[in-house]
Amino acid sequence: MRRLKATYVTIDIQADQAGFAALGISGPLLKNTEQAGFISPKPIQEAAIPAMMAGRDVLAIAQTGSGKTAAFSLPILSRIVGLGTKRTPKSCRALILAPTRELAVQIEETIRLLAKGLHVSTALVLGGVSRNQQVKRIAPGVDVLIATPGRLTDLVREGEVRLGDTRWLVLDEADRMLDMGFINDVRRIARATHPQRQTSLFSATMPKEIEDLAASFMNQPERVAVAPQGTTAAEIRQSVRLVHAKQKRLILARLLKDPAMSSVIVFSRTKHGADKITRNLAADGFPAAVIHGNKSQNARQKALNGFREGSVRILVATDIAARGIDVPGISHVVNYELPDEAESYVHRIGRTGRNGADGVAITLCDPAEQAKLRTVEKIIRMRLPVEADHRDEDIPYQAPAPKPRDEAANENARPKGGNRQRGRNGAGGTPRMADAGKGGENPAKKPFRNRRRRFGGQKQGQRRAA
Ligand code: AMP
Repeated sequence: MRRLKATYVTIDIQADQAGFAALGISGPLLKNTEQAGFISPKPIQEAAIPAMMAGRDVLAIAQTGSGKTAAFSLPILSRIVGLGTKRTPKSCRALILAPTRELAVQIEETIRLLAKGLHVSTALVLGGVSRNQQVKRIAPGVDVLIATPGRLTDLVREGEVRLGDTRWLVLDEADRMLDMGFINDVRRIARATHPQRQTSLFSATMPKEIEDLAASFMNQPERVAVAPQGTTAAEIRQSVRLVHAKQKRLILARLLKDPAMSSVIVFSRTKHGADKITRNLAADGFPAAVIHGNKSQNARQKALNGFREGSVRILVATDIAARGIDVPGISHVVNYELPDEAESYVHRIGRTGRNGADGVAITLCDPAEQAKLRTVEKIIRMRLPVEADHRDEDIPYQAPAPKPRDEAANENARPKGGNRQRGRNGAGGTPRMADAGKGGENPAKKPFRNRRRRFGGQKQGQRRAA
């Protein structure tokens, strides 16, 4: 069923106005925005704010770190401020759904900063922490609720939260929420909100099926795209090192000797892998904090705070836990392994080079990850330069696993022994992966084909443990 269009709002924009005033933000909200250091709107803000201020649904493709939080928060706050403090119990006027707790916490922090002194109440509903506090906080009704879909679904089912009065719905990092298996929860939640709500969907990447889905519960959305899909921030210097899995530990330790790597996130594909990398780093003289879905909320927040404050130089993280990490001044992102979902690469490297700063992203790619690298390159629409380090030559590596018999039969024309081949740039002794990757298991297509099945078969409890 399609909803009616949200009410239009007339905004007077003065030709001589600049900054956020020119986008229709005014009064104390404008003052707070400027005090937060937001003087010139970012492209996503310039594009999304006027559309949202005019009451339009917005479907926005924006890179991570592009300023999307303020882009959706400011128009909502500007409307809520005028509504007074009489709230409906157990209800929220605006609901922002985010895929992870960290991102939700961060969104709330930004909103509180922007709404300082404006009598706008906020609440968080997140999994992994006590529900009683959350229920108590929302009991009298709040203006803005920021939630992860799983816990919110539980509280709605139990009658602790009612969404019938919710007139603004934001889906942040929407592709990831849908990827994480929250799709049915998101649908249920959207259906429970006011039929004349205004819906905004923000996402760094927008696969076709997500777009189709969004169209089913948005009303003729204004499409806003500040960068082509999958484009990575221009300020990030990206490179790949072609190495074998067994070499990665040593190479990481060598990289970390560089004092320029002042604040580093190391991404692991799995939780178990993240723990192992952290243990190895400690043994190699590089103490690191770790953040993944098996860690308690307190442990995650503590690691994140240490990283943000600078007492922790290296943070090892899985993809899910890393969503929403907005720490200024991250100098380097190291992909210890390529992600299963190529789009995560964009999110990962977006942790550095934030807010116009320079950043470096280094990907360690083993032969078995070659197909994933190709998919990433397709998504970001560029070939990642291969950087070879002559010192890597003396690092012993495990020969690729023996090839299955039928593949070995095709090998006759190819020279044996990885080190006869040179890296793509011909500069180093690293084996050429295009060849090395053909040995043993062929990982092509596997991660993407399995993805839907994996999430589709999960129960709610399992899913939330991710
Ligand atoms: P976000 O994409 O919302 O996580 O924002 C990324 C970073 O940009 C955050 O650190 C924000 O504080 C910052 N930011 C957002 N909008 C602006 C702006 N207009 N001017 C300066 N910084 C901004």
